Amino acid sequence: MTEKLHIVGGGMAGSEAAWQAAEMGVEVVLHEMRPTVGTFAHRTGHLAEMVCSNSFRSDDDAENAVGQLHWEMRAAQGLVMTTADRHRLPAGGALAVDRDPFAEEVTARLKSHPKVTVEESEITELPEEGRWIFATGPLTSPALGEAIARATGADQLAFFDAIAPIVYAESIDMGTAWRQSRYDKGETEEERTAYINCPMTKDQYEAFIDALLAADKTEFHEGETADYFDGCLPIEVMAERGRETLRHGPMKPVGLTNPHKPDEKPHAVVQLRRDNALGTLYNIVGFQTKMKYGAQTSVFRMIPGLEEARFARLGGIHRNTFLNSPTLLDDQLRLRARPNIRFAGQITGVEGYVESAAMGLLAGRLAAAEILGRPLPTAPADSAMGALVHHITGGAEAKTFQPMNVNFGLFRPVEGLKGGRKGRRERYRAYTDRAKAAWRAWLAGAALDAA
Ligand SMILES: Cc1cc2nc3c(=O)[nH]c(=O)nc-3n(C[C@H](O)[C@H](O)[C@H](O)COP(=O)(O)OP(=O)(O)OC[C@H]3O[C@@H](n4cnc5c(N)ncnc54)[C@H](O)[C@@H]3O)c2cc1C
Repeated sequence: MTEKLHIVGGGMAGSEAAWQAAEMGVEVVLHEMRPTVGTFAHRTGHLAEMVCSNSFRSDDDAENAVGQLHWEMRAAQGLVMTTADRHRLPAGGALAVDRDPFAEEVTARLKSHPKVTVEESEITELPEEGRWIFATGPLTSPALGEAIARATGADQLAFFDAIAPIVYAESIDMGTAWRQSRYDKGETEEERTAYINCPMTKDQYEAFIDALLAADKTEFHEGETADYFDGCLPIEVMAERGRETLRHGPMKPVGLTNPHKPDEKPHAVVQLRRDNALGTLYNIVGFQTKMKYGAQTSVFRMIPGLEEARFARLGGIHRNTFLNSPTLLDDQLRLRARPNIRFAGQITGVEGYVESAAMGLLAGRLAAAEILGRPLPTAPADSAMGALVHHITGGAEAKTFQPMNVNFGLFRPVEGLKGGRKGRRERYRAYTDRAKAAWRAWLAGAALDAA
């Protein structure tokens, strides 16, 4: 008899992980605390409940990264994606889902699977023995959160995200912006030029503050406490405290010289810092915000150098339990210090229903393969699944790690293609063609191993 796989959390990730492992022939015990213990966002006792919007976002697998991830999950007979397809609602190019029948069907299929046992229980410790996947999501129960923090170190587990917007490097106007670290600090040329700086005149700064103050903001959900304030104030809250606050905080202009206008001292400077090893993404330093998405795009494009900026993700602050995965997890999603334990879903620092289910799919297959004695390599870097797992377990900067959704900035560039807005469609198609080939090969390899 093979070892059982225990999965904690029957959300998007845990449900998918359980399905994948069970389909590979492994006995699975799925521990879900609802409905006995609830969260402020879940309403039902169903597995795979969609807590807020009913959208899996774009279904375009040719020119959209999340659409490509849909494709990969369908190719792997993912439970979440194939069930979503059966409960699809009209939504243009997006995959919108009729949430209750969707969750009911996921629950029924798992409960009736001969290899799956669903136990209604809250797990509050990281066990020393056995093989486990923790997929307890952004609202991991407090007792388990404390146990994880004890095992990983309190500074390696966050309870709120504070997401600054992330910009595609190629969309920054380097005729206005320049590369320089404050006071040219750093041992190497790479470190001395680690930041991209966008200068503002006094008039531009005042107009920017006006726009920040006037912008529409989102509120916290009911029950989502606002004790995030230490050290991660939203920029609009800083601006509300005084018009000069940002100029003395993240927008201070000191230690920087604009090579395009060396005789002109900027009144304020917005800095962007590299967000991934590939150097394709930059985050706007200290610009976490609760502004609505539409407002963010127009306000941030007021920054000189970012007029044409394209955003890989916009900013936000949410209740969100997540690990510092680049430090803690290997590319198999195992805790480096305790390899009998894997993590999956949003707690690994991915963001969104689809990305969470994708990490569940991968963790379920990798754990089951290990139990069956024929371990699998992790997802290939050129697939969307692989781009995401490599980002969270290594490509992302550990010091500033914040949750990420899948986007083309995580993909290795395809050689010989035009950069910029004009070449975009061709580039995206090249990424998704390459991703499909890589994912097909990985699935075929996994199937051969099983034969
Ligand atoms: C308020 C809110 C709104 C959101 N809105 C959206 C949105 O509109 N679109 C989107 O794509 N994403 C949204 N998200 C993120 C979304 O929740 C995740 O992307 C997705 O559900 C994560 O999947 P998961 O499996 O990692 O976690 P979940 O789907 O949350 O599943 C985790 C499961 O673990 C269970 N659990 C927790 N602790 C324990 C324990 N100790 N023992 C046993 N079981 C436990 C929970 O009950 C839950 O069922 C939102 C999140 C929140 C908090």
